[in-house]
Amino acid sequence: MPERNVATWNALVAGLVKGDKLFEALGIFRTMQRDNVGFSWVSLTTVLSVCARLSALSIGKEIHGQIIRSSDCPDILVLNSLLDMYAKCGEIEYCRKVFDKMPIEKDLTTWNILINGYAINGSMNQAITVFERMVEEKFHSDEITFVSLLSGFSRVGMDNEGRILFNRMSLEFGVNPNSDHYACLVDMLGRAGKIEEALGLVKKMPTKPNGSVWGSLLNSCKIYGHVPLAEAIAKTLFEIEPTNSGNYIILSSIYSNAGMWDKVRFIKELMEKKGIKEKDGFSYVQIRGKIYLFRACEGFESFGGSDEFRSKWDELTNEMEKNGVFVRGFNDGTIEWVCGHSERLAMVFGLIRTGDGLPIRITKNIRVCGECLSWMKHASRLTKRKIILRDTNQLHRFDRGNCSCDDYW
Ligand SMILES: [Zn+2]
Ligand SMILES: [Zn+2]
Repeated sequence: MPERNVATWNALVAGLVKGDKLFEALGIFRTMQRDNVGFSWVSLTTVLSVCARLSALSIGKEIHGQIIRSSDCPDILVLNSLLDMYAKCGEIEYCRKVFDKMPIEKDLTTWNILINGYAINGSMNQAITVFERMVEEKFHSDEITFVSLLSGFSRVGMDNEGRILFNRMSLEFGVNPNSDHYACLVDMLGRAGKIEEALGLVKKMPTKPNGSVWGSLLNSCKIYGHVPLAEAIAKTLFEIEPTNSGNYIILSSIYSNAGMWDKVRFIKELMEKKGIKEKDGFSYVQIRGKIYLFRACEGFESFGGSDEFRSKWDELTNEMEKNGVFVRGFNDGTIEWVCGHSERLAMVFGLIRTGDGLPIRITKNIRVCGECLSWMKHASRLTKRKIILRDTNQLHRFDRGNCSCDDYW
């Protein structure tokens, strides 16, 4: 290319992000910095979105510094991605500070990001307060606003509040519920154990229920151990999403919780026959501006200094056992195989590579399992570390043996 400028570099970074090559995108951004290419707000907006996805807080903070030091006034897009990055890294207080001090006018996305930020951090009272202020300031809410609020209510088990809001959506705010909103409500009722009511709602839906609606019902069946209903729902799901491994795995763990081992084997064989592979579970942890990736299947081999790792791992496991915590291991056949448990490897690595008392931030590409949530609680207590773990569904903050979700997940 005869002449490369910031725009061509930006296009390269954006292309990588679009292709899910997040590490490579960060690498190119580093090259831009090293070669003094300069940057535009577009560059920073894109990189902040990568930081949000990887929970790369320290890189995100570094970019915040660049925004502050710049003599130009930042645009709304870069400030919105800054807010989103803080919210998704579990730093909702920082997110709020940036929101309160914005030098330019907020738009609907700004409000939606703050509401969603409180919702994913489990602070639904604050989310509602912000929503009310948004209404007072005459901003029109949209579909996204209500998906954030409803999914937030679902996560914390506030199903009454969620139901009331769902009914107010079109009447008061002129937003007609779409399939995403129905999916949130179905999930909310199912998780609260009101599966009959959730099923009734599915039948009333104006559009044909999609995979995510049935998927959330299947998940509720797992929580409450409803085997026959789960089988009926799985049958529908296998037709709509024949290759989605997640559905087979959930059904299999429902069988395994019920001790129905023949059926567990049957699902495994069915998956093999159809050539469906389990989605690879992996976790990221950021340490001093560098991001490390962990795959459970690689186990302890993922580390150069594996002796140090192994001894830290054993130390923590012994400590847990001494405290009467029985932790099932990686290769125990009874453990749920949906999760991969790579977050435990990431946590121990973070423990070794960060200073005493510093929080450890982990991002996971699939949903964390109950065993790992319980493991993290004990680990946070025994190591006196705060652990911030975000998966595809929600953000968990572990501190002194407790989790911000109060075990409702
Ligand atoms: Zn797990
Ligand atoms: Zn939790």
